[in-house]
Amino acid sequence: MAFTYACSDYPGMAPCPGRFTAKTKDELWEHIELHALVTHEEDPSEWPDDERSKIEALITGD
Ligand SMILES: [Zn+2]
Repeated sequence: MAFTYACSDYPGMAPCPGRFTAKTKDELWEHIELHALVTHEEDPSEWPDDERSKIEALITGD
């Protein structure tokens, strides 16, 4: 079981090569938030719920 998120799937993020896979969704979110902070200079603590929903919808997993 693994969950994957590709940053380029997010609208407007197409050139970003960031892609993360983790065993749990909680860990995957850690990667996504750190990536957003370091690479995109965004503060994940300021993301509104609909931002998180958009990301959540793009997470693939089995
Ligand atoms: Zn990215």
